[in-house]
Amino acid sequence: MLVKYVVDFSEGSKEQGDLLGGKGANLAEMTKLNLPVPTGFTITTEACLDYLKKKENISSDLNAEIRQHIIKMEKRTQKKLGDALDPLLVSVRSGSKFSMPGMMDTILNLGLNDETVLGLVQKTGDGRFAFDCYRRLLQMFGDVVCGIDKNRFEEQLDFYKSKKRYHSDTDMQAEDWQELVAVYKNIFLEVTHQAFPQNPYEQLMLAVEAVFRSWNNRRAVTYRRLHNISDSLGTAVNIQEMVFGNFGADSGTGVAFTRNPATGEKGIFGEFLLNAQGEDVVAGIRTPQPISELKALMPEVYQEFLTLSQLLESHYRDMQDIEFTIENRKLYFLQTRNGKRTAKSAFKVCIQLVEEGIISKKEALQRINQTMITQLLHPVFEPDELKKAVVFAKGLPASPGAASGTIYFTAEQAKKASEQGEKVILIRQETSPEDIEGMVVSEAIVTSRGGMTSHAAVVARGMGVCCVAGCEEVYVDEFLEQATAGDVILRKGDTISVDGTTGTIYLGSIPYIEGDEWQLLETITGWAKEGASIGVKANAETPADIKTALKLGAQGIGLARTEHMFFGEERIVEIRKMILAENKESLIAPLDRLKEFQKNDFRAMFTLLEGKACTIRLLDPPLHEFLPQTEEEIIHLANETKLTTAEIKHRIEELHEQNPMLGHRGCRLAVTTPEIYEMQVAAIIESAIEVAQKGVILEIVPEIMIPLIGSKEEMAWLRERLEQTIQTIFVKTNQVISYKIGTMLEIPRACLTAEKIAEVSDFFSFGTNDLTQLTYGFSRDDSGKFIGAYQEKKLLKEDPFQHIDEDGVGSLMKIAVDKIRHVDPSITIGVCGEVGGDPQSIRFLKKIGVDYISCSPYRIPAAILTIAQEQ
Ligand code: PEP
Ligand code: MG
Repeated sequence: MLVKYVVDFSEGSKEQGDLLGGKGANLAEMTKLNLPVPTGFTITTEACLDYLKKKENISSDLNAEIRQHIIKMEKRTQKKLGDALDPLLVSVRSGSKFSMPGMMDTILNLGLNDETVLGLVQKTGDGRFAFDCYRRLLQMFGDVVCGIDKNRFEEQLDFYKSKKRYHSDTDMQAEDWQELVAVYKNIFLEVTHQAFPQNPYEQLMLAVEAVFRSWNNRRAVTYRRLHNISDSLGTAVNIQEMVFGNFGADSGTGVAFTRNPATGEKGIFGEFLLNAQGEDVVAGIRTPQPISELKALMPEVYQEFLTLSQLLESHYRDMQDIEFTIENRKLYFLQTRNGKRTAKSAFKVCIQLVEEGIISKKEALQRINQTMITQLLHPVFEPDELKKAVVFAKGLPASPGAASGTIYFTAEQAKKASEQGEKVILIRQETSPEDIEGMVVSEAIVTSRGGMTSHAAVVARGMGVCCVAGCEEVYVDEFLEQATAGDVILRKGDTISVDGTTGTIYLGSIPYIEGDEWQLLETITGWAKEGASIGVKANAETPADIKTALKLGAQGIGLARTEHMFFGEERIVEIRKMILAENKESLIAPLDRLKEFQKNDFRAMFTLLEGKACTIRLLDPPLHEFLPQTEEEIIHLANETKLTTAEIKHRIEELHEQNPMLGHRGCRLAVTTPEIYEMQVAAIIESAIEVAQKGVILEIVPEIMIPLIGSKEEMAWLRERLEQTIQTIFVKTNQVISYKIGTMLEIPRACLTAEKIAEVSDFFSFGTNDLTQLTYGFSRDDSGKFIGAYQEKKLLKEDPFQHIDEDGVGSLMKIAVDKIRHVDPSITIGVCGEVGGDPQSIRFLKKIGVDYISCSPYRIPAAILTIAQEQ
């Protein structure tokens, strides 16, 4: 059966993105909706893959199909390709399944040659226009098909203009463009040793092949790698009748979004250029006018555009990014797609669409992703510092965020400097796809030309990199490597700060704080939590972190590491005294003081949590981690303890362990010195009673978590002792509260004997950091030295400390969950190791049936979202 490689716009639909590419599928959909779309057809991605596989010329079958479709187009337009009097001119554009802005190539005005250009002059009566189109074809065709450096052409245009003392392209007359066409044709001949092909069919086939081949060009490959797009999709090619935005003052071209892609604000947002063609807006070569100005210039066109773009948005049920052209006051739609947007805009638009009843909450949650959440929490400059900062220049706020760094004027330099560990900012007149490798490594991107939809703006927004575009007051000299605004000259290596949210560039470096778009997050995480099957708690212990965690949606604390409460000068001294105690007597005083510190912390914690879950993990790390490291610290401790420095050094030596991570830590500390855990448990229970007594919080049920349990015997012994302490407090205070005593699952043996431990444990929480360390036998502190090599050699797909090792660690966890549920199906099992905040791992953890995950505060919203998306 003959494979159909070409699909007319009238035959396709938006669902066919795989076959027709995004652009082709949407052109077909718009055609179906009766929008004013210039006629055309799409050569499928399968045709591209077939071409690339065979590594040969376009097959005769494909050739024949293209010809048939051109004939149909000729019938519809009543023009003919190559006709000397009324030539059909077409555009050739790539379009893969996923939008790859500026990555693939476009050729406009195809069909022009020495003869048809005269036909166009005749037909339009406008030689200036016709020859301008022809020179554009020569330039684009030369660049895309024959690889001739665009600058070769640009240089000649600049040279010509300066020779004639012209200021801008609009000064160029018909004869000027005509002369330039001759010059361009010479460049063509000089570089390729062949004349520019005069046969329009030959032009068309060469252009189609070039688009096919461009799927594998370096910048396309880089973009795909960066965005995890498969190399095996191929690109479609769209052939479409040309309409002309460069047909004088009643024509123009533009790009518009149905809502603001930076802020999400409702209402049309875009830019246009009068008397300009196709890529001029996107390429950022001239700075366009805001679309609102079209209203005054061409009211009917503006109104029609509003109505139709609204129709598109309702049809696609999402914000649209639309390319349009106006030819002699007639509007055409050349492209529509779901608009790329900042995280803030994505959140806002989702919320609006739900409120407008266009999409459901569930759908909204599927449209938000974890990266957007990270971007929403983007940094902003410290307001007080910002007041003191010196403004260098202002431009368009193209992509939000705040960044400081040293400036470079080429992508290559930026890349090199970043490889040396420098924070870099890329400054260019405008960026192009060739700059992608430099843009990826930059903290911020600044351009002196181009609008909100220019390459720099679109790409930076996509990457979540801060960007100020169209900084017209800055003169960027890429050759001299300097940027000038007024009297100030910045040179390569100077430091600036870029505020992508306001579009301001400052001299020097400015400290920043995290972003504050939290209300938007609250709405989304609020929806995500509705009906969530597993909970999300926080790993936090300081009041600041607990507040952050609660604000970001935590339903409680899943891991408060008490050792983190012992840092700080005053406390560490007491811990050191406790460690140095040689007998039970001398333990009492430091433990009493530590108890007071702990009680203060726990009271604050319970008060902030207002009755929400609170799992407090008793002291875990090896004690020597708290010991003084420097001579100065040893002397200080000697003064505090009345021990000699020699005695302290001796004790440090005694505490030294060969394998501290496998040594005297966790519950083992309490087996040898139970007083430490007893003090901690007393502090927890007494604080809970005190806060509850104040009567504001109805019920506090502290969950006391013992780390590093490996056997039922250990757990039972410790539990008994701790319960004695608790009972004593109940008697002493004449108060009784509920509490739980549970353990972590961090030791493989604990997982394998979990059904036994479950008899004496009220709850469990997987400590996947230690469990991974002990299952793999990879030291969590040292594995960084070799994991990279494992990944490079493909011995490991990913770092098991970042993403759960499903086969190994995951199997152990599954065994443990099954064993525990067998004893008591209602027992709570959580996860509090680092993978608890990793979306990929959360999907697995949810599958094996844990009740909640606990992670650091800033990872909470993404975790909540992941769980909702998996429902
Ligand atoms: C763990 O081991 O996963 C854990 C949460 O405890 P820590 O990281 O404090 O050892
Ligand atoms: Mg641990």
